Formats: sequence, structure tokens, C-alpha cells
Amino acid sequence: MRQVRSFFGGIYPKDVKQSTAGTPIQTLSAPETVVVPLLQHIGEEAKPVVAKGDEVLKGQLLAEADGAAGAPVHSPVSGKVLAIEPRPHPSGHSITAIVIENDGNDTWAERITHPDPVQLDAETILKRISEAGVVGMGGAGFPTAAKLTLPKGITLEYLIINGCECEPYFTTDQRLMVEYPEDIILGAKLMAKASGARKIVIAIEDNKPDAYASLKEHAGSIEIVLVPTRYPAGGEKQLIQQITGREVPSGGLPHQAGAVVQNVATARAVALAVRDGEPSIARVITVTGTPIAEPKNFLVPIGTPLADVIEATGGFTVKPGKVVVSGAMMGEAQFSLDVPITKTIGGVAAFTEEESATPDSTPCIKCARCVDVCPARLLPLKLEAFGMNERFDEAREYGALDCIECGACNYICPAKRPLLQYIRFAKLEIIARDQQPS
Ligand code: SF4
Ligand code: SF4
Repeated sequence: MRQVRSFFGGIYPKDVKQSTAGTPIQTLSAPETVVVPLLQHIGEEAKPVVAKGDEVLKGQLLAEADGAAGAPVHSPVSGKVLAIEPRPHPSGHSITAIVIENDGNDTWAERITHPDPVQLDAETILKRISEAGVVGMGGAGFPTAAKLTLPKGITLEYLIINGCECEPYFTTDQRLMVEYPEDIILGAKLMAKASGARKIVIAIEDNKPDAYASLKEHAGSIEIVLVPTRYPAGGEKQLIQQITGREVPSGGLPHQAGAVVQNVATARAVALAVRDGEPSIARVITVTGTPIAEPKNFLVPIGTPLADVIEATGGFTVKPGKVVVSGAMMGEAQFSLDVPITKTIGGVAAFTEEESATPDSTPCIKCARCVDVCPARLLPLKLEAFGMNERFDEAREYGALDCIECGACNYICPAKRPLLQYIRFAKLEIIARDQQPS
């Protein structure tokens, strides 16, 4: 039996998962018009291969990957391209999107299926994952095939499948593990073969016994491990430490600790891509929060507006103060409900005006609670001051780039300091300076 190690810091926020944890996934029909952004991943925008007026089929390539860290995008419906133009994006920016009028026929493009895909060689599996536009669905959006392709000479000991879902409110991954365990196991086997990983470990927080039981039934020799429920147990570095006992070095990559981490939703997307020839055109999301009439889990076509998924729950019962996508702790507040669901959005949480009121911050009382909870072993109070005073060299020296943006410091701070906001600002400045030509 594997000994699960602890990681430094962390917090215990209320999980607020009860309203959807037992709610089966419902399939939501595609709307009359879908808006498919060209950027749904880390890296460059995909390059369109269709034009306004073209007829497209469901699953057809709309835009091809640009660069090694790019990912293609495909049509979630059959229909006609109405426009290729900038549209509001969940990141807060305006990003080029392909707007498609849905003909309602769901006519699929040709799909290459394989009844026993584990027999395929590693190269073919990687190619299929890449061509299907699968990206990390846990939020990061790193193209999956690129993450599974290791530098020459590196051997991987562990493929860790992340079923922790430590973000409060969301039960997307939990429902996937309960309802689609065979797909997740198949996706894990395919990714292990593609990356050459010797062992697969699936990690689940111990507040999801139903997910554990479901996967265990189908896991065969694959190891399923329960980790203690503590935010951010599902952080990549924190998970590697818990499972392997090894630390990813500062500024380093997971393979330097002999591991690669992939989310359970990504594992299922890989199974659909390689076995069924289905590109990444839909995903499961949780829609929840106090103002939501009936919180639910949906399988949603990519490109469906936020307004439609909220409407499908029965809408808001009270005026929301804030709507956040991808997590109450790590997600982004939205200014418009016109933004589309993308490959990396695992859920939508709405908050009442009272719940989302931002308390006034007061001066730091030097209690060090932010230091005690920081899983990256940083000094958030110092980094905040560096960011606020634009002392970016010192922010770098004190490890700002190692901040995983978990928000644990903000959560715990009795003075309600906007710690993460200034740390993020410092990180963005440091990265922008590094990218300037010397
Ligand atoms: S400094 Fe970054 S890593 Fe540390 S607690 Fe704050 S948000 Fe999390
Ligand atoms: S938790 Fe807040 S008040 Fe305490 S040291 Fe950190 S920044 Fe200061």
C-alpha cells in the first residue's frame, strides 16, 4: 500500500459540493449559434482553415494548431460558418472566434475509430491526441500530446491521473469518475503508452468515496490512491509530492521528478479521441451557486454561451453579484454571460451580491498565516509589497514565478489583503520583461 506524503501548507475551505455531487450528468443540446474561440489552450491561437459561408460537419477541423504548443479546434455542430471575428472570451479579452449557425442535424464528419486502441503504437496515439485538439481540461489548457512528449533521454516513472477536484463547488470530475470509469482507465492506459510511463496512479481526494469505488471496480492493476482532502491537493506539484515523495524543483517541470500529471476529464477526452475518433468538442461542467435555481452537471458543446447553461438550470433566482468560471478559488470573474464555454472551463459558480462583496482590506498585521498556508513555501506578504511597489526584480528573487495562484493566502488573510492580485501582477510583469528582445 502506497504511503501518501503530505505537502506544505494548504487550507480547508467549505467544499459546497453537496448540491451537485449526486446529480447525474445531463446532455445539453447545442444552441442555434455556437461561438468557438481559436484560443482555448496555452500557446498561440489556432489558424482557421474554413471561411465565412462554408458548410461544416460536426467534428470537422475548423482551425489548425499554430506552433508546438498549439492545439486545433473542431466544430461542435454541423452547420454554416456565419463569421470569423473577435468575440468576448472568458479570459476577459476579445479573441477571434468561429461563429457557426447550427443546422440541428448533428451530421458528423468521418471518424477514425479503433475498437482496441491500446494496441496502437505510441506515435499513433500521440498523433490522434494531438489531431483531436485535446488539452489539459483541469484548467491549465496545456496541449496534452505536447505534455506527454518528453525530452530525449528522459524516462517517466509515473503517470498520475488527477481526480482530486480540490476546488470547492465543482463536481465535474467526481461525476466523470462515477459515470465513465472505463473511459478514464482507457485514457490513462493510452497516455501511459504514449509517454512511456511505467506506472499509472489515480489520485482522488478522500471526500469522494463514490468515485473511488467506481474506478476501483474497473482499475485492474492500476493503483487508485485516496489523498487527504485539503486545498490544493490537486495542484500538480502538490500531487506529485503526495504520490512520489519527490519535489519538482523551483522553475522546473514535473518530469524532473519522474512524473506527468493529467486530469480525469483529459483522460476521458483521450479515450474518446483515440477509440472513437471524437475530437475535443464538448465537456462536462458543473453550474452551481446560491443564485442558481437548480445546480446541475451538464455535458455541454464547446462554444455554448454561459447564458444558455445558466438558463438550463432554471436561471438565477436572485440577482448575482459575481459569476466565476473554472473555480471559486482559482477561477476568473466574468463581465458578460455571452462568453462561450471552452475546453478548459470545468464549471460555473454564481454568488449573491452579499457573498461576493469584497471586504475592505486593512494593514498587514504580520501574523504570517499567509506564509503558513502557502503550498509553494513563499512569503505572500512580501511578494504583495513587491508587486504593489513595482519591485519586480525582488519579486522574482523571492520566487513569484513559483506561485501556483491557488489563492490560499487570500483566503486565510485576516486583513483581507489582495495578495494574489499583486503577485499575479508581478508575475505578468516578470514574464513580459523576459519575453522582450534583449
Ligand atoms: S503565494 Fe501563490 S502559491 Fe502561495 S498561497 Fe498565495 S496564491 Fe498560493
Ligand atoms: S495573512 Fe495577511 S495580515 Fe497576516 S501576514 Fe499575511 S498579509 Fe499580513
